[in-house]
Amino acid sequence: MGQRLENAESIGRTDVVKLLIVEDETKIARLLQRGLAFEGMTSTLARDGRAGLEAAQAGTFDAIVLDLMLPGLDGISVCRQLREEGDWTPILMLTARSAVSDRVLGLRSGADDYLVKPFSLAELTARLRAIARRRDSAAPGLLEAGELRLDLAEREAWRVDQRLELSPREFDLLEAFMRHPGQLLSREQILAEVWGDDSPSRANVLQVYVSYLREKIDRPFGTDSNETVRSVGYRLKKTP
Ligand code: CA
Repeated sequence: MGQRLENAESIGRTDVVKLLIVEDETKIARLLQRGLAFEGMTSTLARDGRAGLEAAQAGTFDAIVLDLMLPGLDGISVCRQLREEGDWTPILMLTARSAVSDRVLGLRSGADDYLVKPFSLAELTARLRAIARRRDSAAPGLLEAGELRLDLAEREAWRVDQRLELSPREFDLLEAFMRHPGQLLSREQILAEVWGDDSPSRANVLQVYVSYLREKIDRPFGTDSNETVRSVGYRLKKTP
């Protein structure tokens, strides 16, 4: 049951995952790019280890799919070098061989996960989402959505580098929205999450707090992050 829910959540996830694929076999690389695009992931392709390393150093990716056997610099070396440079972008290593020593070597070099060829696209997608999510939780104290940023430990909020002065309730409300950017949240859902009480009589309170919040996170910046969905609830725009 838990597994089912997990899958449903993954499928429902709408934020685009940005990948770097380092793979020298053209046919596999094309299949991967096409398949992952279908899953809502965009990808940049590098065809050898050196190009892969340079792309990783130059760009920002949610995860890297790294083939082990590559011309020039192999996958292990690419991975190790990135980790030495303090780059902890999640890495999923691919290999044609299933030898345990490869697996150990891959994970020791700092890869997050490992997949043996041939594999299914579904398996790859699930693993990529899992390692990308793991990275999110590596910095559990920080929540970001578009220009908005929350430091949950310090209870501070910013739009870009502008500090937002929020009351505790406003902070909780913004946090609830930022945990689900782009998603329509029903009034009941928000009330339950922020007030711990979803009774409809509180709908007015919610409306008032949403307007307070807009005064602070939007009005001074000429932005319009939070939309009302008539008689249902509210939605924080995907790139607020
Ligand atoms: Ca290869």
